[in-house]
Amino acid sequence: MRKETVEVMREAAEHFIDYLDLQRTVCERIAELTKNEAAFVTTGAAGGVVLSTAACMCAGNIDNLDRIPDKVNMLEKNEVIIFDGEFQDSIPYWKLIRKAGAKIVSVKPDIDAVKQVVNAHTAAVFLFPSSLYERGIPTCEEVIPELKNIGVPIVVDAAAQLPPRSNLWYYTNELGADLVIFSGGKHIRGPQSTGLILGKKNLIDICKAAASPNAEIGRPYKTGKEELAGILTALEFFMKEDDQSLYDSQYEKLMTVKAYLNHFETVKVEMKTEGRLGTFQPLLLITFPEGIRGESCHEFARKYNPPIDIGVYQPEFKMPENTVFINAYNLSEGEQYMVGEMLERFCEESINR
Ligand SMILES: *Cc1c(COP(=O)(O)O)cnc(C)c1O
Repeated sequence: MRKETVEVMREAAEHFIDYLDLQRTVCERIAELTKNEAAFVTTGAAGGVVLSTAACMCAGNIDNLDRIPDKVNMLEKNEVIIFDGEFQDSIPYWKLIRKAGAKIVSVKPDIDAVKQVVNAHTAAVFLFPSSLYERGIPTCEEVIPELKNIGVPIVVDAAAQLPPRSNLWYYTNELGADLVIFSGGKHIRGPQSTGLILGKKNLIDICKAAASPNAEIGRPYKTGKEELAGILTALEFFMKEDDQSLYDSQYEKLMTVKAYLNHFETVKVEMKTEGRLGTFQPLLLITFPEGIRGESCHEFARKYNPPIDIGVYQPEFKMPENTVFINAYNLSEGEQYMVGEMLERFCEESINR
């Protein structure tokens, strides 16, 4: 988090305030900043998945909240459609839909197949965007405009799909999704325990009713006044930043890291102009000589002083074992040197053996 965000959270902790007043003010301001009809702050994008599922299952009737998650068979709308795709192996978050009691209906990756499966019990269609997760399934660009008029809410879990900042309203205003979810603790650099639900007011109102201070499904996902103040401050800074300058500063940090590896002839370092999930950010891909596993670099980095987290692809991603990735979005100024030095040390120790 930025120093300013931490400071605002500290100040918020020192004062009493009417929680609902603060919640309303913060959410209205977030809706305005993100150009959405309405907004709600919850506990991480994960809390957002559960609450938006609950909101969609209510079908406009707040009284239905009392039936979630244990009596959902009394609800008319209790099924959520997702695509049957590779993303189900690489990210687990779709499973959270079940935490609200909904039954997941996984359909073959085809828009017409969704249209055929939709019925009176369909509460929502959930989509997980990104160039990585959309491999082998129709993209949000293809799906949302086609499905937005079938009378079923479309919810997009875009937790990590930033920057560009315009994604905060792209899925809802431009493509036509009903709700979109973002992590507060990823690119926005807010408290890690925050997430945003953005979009249609009628659904957001139910998310609010489901959450603290009401004793419904969202009550255990309480955001404190410190978090409400923190996410708003972080978002205000995030919105003031220019996408290109943010990109350029990350690019420069990664070039510095790369320079530490240039003298290892057998190490291939490649700068990608797109994040791992297709976002607007540079990404450094490092491929060690055959036999040197990315996992060993990860272990080395975690034992380093200070500990550093290196991106290792899990087997589901089907990437070579000797490739690691580095992004710079959470590197503070100066930390790029530590990353470079650590990688240089790792290469010296492992390649000469
Ligand atoms: C990271 C992520 C989440 C969880 O986000 P939190 O803010 O940590 O709750 C959910 N869905 C997707 C697609 C994610 O990438």
